[in-house]
Amino acid sequence: MIRLSDIQDKVTRYAPGADLDLIERAYILSAQCHDGQKRRSGEPYLIHPLAVADILADLKLDVDCIAVGLLHDVIEDTLITYEEVKAQFGVDIANMVDGLSKISKIMFKSREEAQAESFRKMVFAMARDIRVVLVKLADRAHNMRTLHYMPERKQLRIARETLEIYAPIAHRLGIQTIKIELEDLSFKYLHPDVYRDIEDNLAATRAEREAYMERVRILLADAMRSAQLEVEVFGRVKNIYSIYRKMVRNSVEFEQIHDLTGFRMLVETVGQCYQALGQVHAMFKPLDSRFKDFIAVPKSNGYQSLHTTVFGPDNEQIEIQIRTREMHAVAETGIAAHWRYKEGRLHLDRKEIEDVAKLRQLVESAQEVEDPSEFMQSIRSDLTSEEVYVFTPAGAVLAFPEGATPLDFAFAIHTEVGLHCTGAKVDGRIVPFDYCLKSGETVHIITHPSARPSVAWLKLVVTSRAKTKIRAFLRQEERVRGRELGRGILEREFKKHGLNLNKLIKDDAFKQPLQSLHIRNMDELYLNVALGKITIEKVLLEFVPKEKLQTERAKASLVDKLKERLKFKRQAASSSPVRIKGEGDILVSFAKCCNPLHGDPIIGTITLGHGISIHLADCPNALNMEPSRRIEVAWDEQTRHYRNVKIRVICVDRAGMLVHMSKAIAHDGVNITTAECKSIGDKKAINNFEITVADRETLDKVIASLERVKGVISVERVFA
Ligand code: MN
Repeated sequence: MIRLSDIQDKVTRYAPGADLDLIERAYILSAQCHDGQKRRSGEPYLIHPLAVADILADLKLDVDCIAVGLLHDVIEDTLITYEEVKAQFGVDIANMVDGLSKISKIMFKSREEAQAESFRKMVFAMARDIRVVLVKLADRAHNMRTLHYMPERKQLRIARETLEIYAPIAHRLGIQTIKIELEDLSFKYLHPDVYRDIEDNLAATRAEREAYMERVRILLADAMRSAQLEVEVFGRVKNIYSIYRKMVRNSVEFEQIHDLTGFRMLVETVGQCYQALGQVHAMFKPLDSRFKDFIAVPKSNGYQSLHTTVFGPDNEQIEIQIRTREMHAVAETGIAAHWRYKEGRLHLDRKEIEDVAKLRQLVESAQEVEDPSEFMQSIRSDLTSEEVYVFTPAGAVLAFPEGATPLDFAFAIHTEVGLHCTGAKVDGRIVPFDYCLKSGETVHIITHPSARPSVAWLKLVVTSRAKTKIRAFLRQEERVRGRELGRGILEREFKKHGLNLNKLIKDDAFKQPLQSLHIRNMDELYLNVALGKITIEKVLLEFVPKEKLQTERAKASLVDKLKERLKFKRQAASSSPVRIKGEGDILVSFAKCCNPLHGDPIIGTITLGHGISIHLADCPNALNMEPSRRIEVAWDEQTRHYRNVKIRVICVDRAGMLVHMSKAIAHDGVNITTAECKSIGDKKAINNFEITVADRETLDKVIASLERVKGVISVERVFA
């Protein structure tokens, strides 16, 4: 079992003065959290985070990374929360641990192979800190090493996922050591027979191969020494999976593969690279066509090295790579090699790393894709990242176009969730409906059975699915409302003529009339009546004689009025009365505690489940709210919504006062909804009016008019 001190020693070797205390604190918390938990192997769980941290130390990563390696499963598997990790280790480490829990959640959901590519993109997109991916790779490497403890079904799934998702990620990041390990381990579980075949073949030829390699190595080393060049020479053997791939690609047997072995020569300076090359070519005849100078012309991913193929002893072809130690670090550990040790602590130049990662991705895609147009497309989508990937609370991943909002998300979950959405939380925080989702966020939709979409929602969504569903709902709602209206009209009109609509329906008396009106059913009749497509007169004529009907018909068609009303409602719903600073249209409700009116100074508060609530600027309820939940709002100049407000008038108690006061209110064209008057003794009376006004200006006019009424003592607006 790996010990903490082993890891600390390793770190000290490549980063003297690193914060070992941080590693120790992470170790202690991890040990406490996982206390009593066991791996499938029966060993204490703690061996896993220790092994992961050790792999990260092998990659020479910074102490934050090592700490995250130790803590990577605590949010996922134990009772500790993000907040607690943040309190103890700061926001960077907490975010990385959190990101890891999120990645592992998706991975266990991703069964479809078709999704592999989007998960791969996903991992990048959500790893706002690319170190998260490095820790995840180390985590997977250790899980693959211990995969034999898993049941067979799981072994296959995990191995496939590793080969399809994690090994390519390691490859793109240039971390060859992990890539090779992941490939070979996956391959071993996916094709155990082929794996064993190649393994046996390698074993059978090992002695011979090793003897040959040692012979070449000594020849090379001696030649370098006599040229007074300090060079490290390594022989290496291809990994099993790449041998397999070569056999498949060239349709050959194991025996026909000639470049199983190769050599690497590491030197200090670029000049020495060319000197060493000269020595090699002086000793062995080069195969001209196979020389490549990636030092003068580096690969676009930054890889540098000299490659040459020569005819070695016994006329065997051998490939030799020559590079500096620094170039070698980049070639082996890719992105990880870019963590630099600066001013006493490891320092990460984020921009640089991201650039390298992006370049690597491009180069890889160029190599993997054959059709040039497909390549262009993959570049475009990689570079512009038009998609965002977000999580459901259960950890499933959904992809959206850029600019998608919580409403898009709600409709993607389920139509019913969308239709009843009242609010959304992103990573635990309430957000407005026009919030743009970002990759890696977890979205929780708040619904209420009585919530309904409005026309304003159409401007808040970008996905066609959400748009279609909202439109369908609005159309349907209009029809329902139309039917209700139509039925109401018919009921009233029939009543006027001494007919009971419900009874007629029950008695099946509509069967014949519907036929002669060419209407299929009652619902259609109601709708047609509401929309004015069929006049009430026409319907009534089916039941009432014409002469009788004409005498009772004096007033304007009610249908026309209703049509007006429908039109008005539609206009009103299309825009919000309130603007939120810096935001577009947004769903608002008015606080009952202070009942603000257009023109009042106002402030918005973000509520749980009801969007933005509008209060008077000095409403105590709003002022008592946490500042972070208050939001600046302003009235929309163009839009007026009629609202009921209450006013209280104290006046002398005498006959006729109510008439005068009502007149004063009506003079300003304002409706009184309710009026309540009562004597309070001392020859005074108190009058509570509820009136309907569009704005503060009108209200102020009404108050001024009331104050001018003789006998009025005081007028005040009542807020609750
Ligand atoms: Mn783990």
